[in-house]
Amino acid sequence: MRQSKILGGGCFREMGVAPAPFPRRLPAAAGPGLLPAGAACAQAKFRARTAICDIISMAMEKLYVIYGSKGEEMARAIMERMNIARDLELLKKDQPLICLKPNLVVAQPAQWGATTDPDLVKGVIGYLREHGYTNIAIMESAWVGDDTAVAFEVCGYRQLAAEFAMPLVDLKKDGAVAVTVDGLELEICASLLAVDYLINLPVLKAHCQTKLTCALKNLKGCIPDREKRRFHRLGLHRPIACLNKVLRSHLTIVDGIIGDLTYEGGGTPVRMDCVIGGRDPVAVDAYAAELIGYRASEIEYIGLAERLGVGCAAVGAESIVYLNRRQEARRDEPALASEAVDYLRRWILEREACSPCYAALVYALRRLKENGRLEKLPPVCIGQGWKGHAGKIGVGACTRGCRRHVPGCPPRAGEIVAALQSWLDQWPGSGSR
Ligand code: SF4
Repeated sequence: MRQSKILGGGCFREMGVAPAPFPRRLPAAAGPGLLPAGAACAQAKFRARTAICDIISMAMEKLYVIYGSKGEEMARAIMERMNIARDLELLKKDQPLICLKPNLVVAQPAQWGATTDPDLVKGVIGYLREHGYTNIAIMESAWVGDDTAVAFEVCGYRQLAAEFAMPLVDLKKDGAVAVTVDGLELEICASLLAVDYLINLPVLKAHCQTKLTCALKNLKGCIPDREKRRFHRLGLHRPIACLNKVLRSHLTIVDGIIGDLTYEGGGTPVRMDCVIGGRDPVAVDAYAAELIGYRASEIEYIGLAERLGVGCAAVGAESIVYLNRRQEARRDEPALASEAVDYLRRWILEREACSPCYAALVYALRRLKENGRLEKLPPVCIGQGWKGHAGKIGVGACTRGCRRHVPGCPPRAGEIVAALQSWLDQWPGSGSR
């Protein structure tokens, strides 16, 4: 069987595989450490990439949502609908270097909610190959203290790379370049300099410090470990926004199939069964925030990125293109159990709920718990089995027979939080369960 080697530090040899075209496009300098020269050149290169992002993004600011659990098919469907091949043609390069940046923060299979489903990445590669693009590399660095090579293995990426004879780049072993954004100096892994087209493949998750981790924060995997530590010292929000100003994603495809309720490291998985595509990472994150029960304005780095001109956080209903119906995401296979989600289930009266709807309610209940409002909430009806039945309160169009219900099919967690909190305000005695 062909074996793909994990690459890093500019050492792009492969063992026992056909040579990939990727190495010829990488910078000659290599090895951990800040490259001493060429910072101005790095700045200029990143600026040029930003310019092409702007061209591609113009008049194409929609978000694309598809429901289901088959990542490969869903990723392909999104890219076809978005006509990504046309974007790649705009680069006017025979074989542009395409970087796939998943989230492999820890060495944990995607079922645990922390990492990008390799099937989704397979769909992206399949689409690119079908359109003649073969100069593709997967680049990532796990979080500080974890080994990217182990994450590649455990998360199924070594097998994926072998199947397509493509390189895996361990950015922990990469050199770094310095750039300045809005007065803040940042270090970025040098391999990113050579990238012509960046496809960001984050997981939709809650985060213990920034509340949300999705498109914008996923690029933190493109900086050296020492810089990750400094980002934390700087409070994360501003450096994340600045990083996205200089390292613009051309395309974001969010793995919302299984995300995490509380923590970027996984362990409290929530099955939402959706994939979101967009060219504007700020819009993607604004929408993602709503999906897990926050307003975009509550996630500081979204506003900062918008002010830096990375994208636009205003996502109206007219901006969202649905590729299918949410009933195609029925909860045939729940996410792995966790105490945190099990605790919230006590407030859910479920009958045949679709997973996006159910996940939205789980995230909303979590937000109410954080706000100290959950204990007073009566149980909430949800699911297609409630159609035509009466109940006290419900979530989703199927529960319109309830005395009060949150409309939408599915509603977003943010809408559910707002409705439930307003009802709790009006019914101070609603603690009777
Ligand atoms: S409202 Fe009903 S049909 Fe719509 S997503 Fe919720 S459970 Fe599914």
